[in-house]
Amino acid sequence: CARRVVGGGPGGPGTLARELSTAASVGDPSFLESVDIYYDRAAAISSISPDVLAQIKACNNVLKVQFPLKMSNGTVEVIEAFRAEHSHHRLPVKGGLRMAPTVDVDETMALAALMTFKCAVVDVPFGGGKGGIKIAPDYGTGMQEMAWIKDMYTVLVPDDLNAVAVVTGKPLDEGGIEGRTEATGMGVFFCLREFMNNEELMSKINLKPGVKGKTFIVQGFGNVGYHTIECVRAAGGRIVGVAEHDGAVFDDSGIGIDAAALKVYQQQKGTILGFPGLKTVKDSASVLEYPCDVLVPAALEGQIHSGNAGRIKAKILVEAANGPVTPPAEAILEANGVVLLPDLLLNAGGVTVSYFEWLKNLNHVRFGRMSRRMEEKGKTLLLDRLEQELGGGVKFSDITRREFVKGATELDFVWSGLEETMVTSWDRVLKLSKAKGCSFRTAGFLIAIESIGSHYNLSGIYP
Ligand code: GLU
Repeated sequence: CARRVVGGGPGGPGTLARELSTAASVGDPSFLESVDIYYDRAAAISSISPDVLAQIKACNNVLKVQFPLKMSNGTVEVIEAFRAEHSHHRLPVKGGLRMAPTVDVDETMALAALMTFKCAVVDVPFGGGKGGIKIAPDYGTGMQEMAWIKDMYTVLVPDDLNAVAVVTGKPLDEGGIEGRTEATGMGVFFCLREFMNNEELMSKINLKPGVKGKTFIVQGFGNVGYHTIECVRAAGGRIVGVAEHDGAVFDDSGIGIDAAALKVYQQQKGTILGFPGLKTVKDSASVLEYPCDVLVPAALEGQIHSGNAGRIKAKILVEAANGPVTPPAEAILEANGVVLLPDLLLNAGGVTVSYFEWLKNLNHVRFGRMSRRMEEKGKTLLLDRLEQELGGGVKFSDITRREFVKGATELDFVWSGLEETMVTSWDRVLKLSKAKGCSFRTAGFLIAIESIGSHYNLSGIYP
């Protein structure tokens, strides 16, 4: 059923290893149990009948395979891999592929369920799925792996004219799309910016509106963390701490960390530790508890648990990772007045741009190709008309004309589509949370449940 599944995208945000204390080590619910708890909370206040709610919650298929892999030293190892297809209410099912030695079936199922709900929240018409291969020593899948998967699929199914669309997050020259790399972090930022620009919401936590001047600590300096940081910095936010698997760096001066320079340093040295001018902290998890306005876990699930939630000093907690906060930790944070911006909305920018990539592949044309000339022509006519109507010898300069008339590139399409998606979805979540008096997370789940439930009611429960 390969055509029913589209894999791809970065498998999981960040590269944080699990030496850190996690949910399991303090006896909090597992990741899968946590997703179920969050789901049940929203289901309890939804209009959908219990039988349909049970179907929406259930993971439809789980595939487990074991296959032999010849290692570089010549030995053969048996590798376990999983694919969970949580919901087929829309097809194909979609979700990333995680490669890590800690991958297991429950984690894959939890991630697949979150894919279902996040796609529904941002109105991306996919069911939710996820893949996991218990293998690599990090969390990395990226463009290279996606290109290999696409290539192999194309060879195996040569008659499929849409073979390129089987996976997203591909390199640009292999059917990828401009802006996919930045998409998740940028989506996190768009949503966070909407929250932080809202005077009413910010005054409740005694902060002045705006991103500018606020302090941020980010856990995970991978794709998601890095691009979130870059957007925050561009908006005037100050990154005071960055935590990674082997430790963290902290900026005592409060000026803010130059993330681009830190990235170059990381690429050269293989670590962020020891970056000149910053304090190196060996105990990575402790930095989550340092003072800041906004804490952004952008690594793995279960990082904020009942063991450390009470010590978090941030006023806003942004779930850039999937499932970084356990339900007991959420209760502690809420009691302490910390606002939580939930994963299913905040990190949905990744799959949103994957959806754009998929559309581009199915259309066999890049965005901008069909419309740019028409857009430029329309704008030229508009300027001519304006000059006529304004009269009095008004003439726009060549520079103004050039700047205004320039048609949208693929990147413009992607970023404007992403911004529109995140802002619209945030507005819906905000409105519903106000109307129901519930958290943003419950409002997000509720939107997803109502949308999937309504689909089942209208179209029947199959597939
Ligand atoms: N890993 C991404 C997520 O958790 C999804 C990747 C994709 O399907 O594009 O949202």
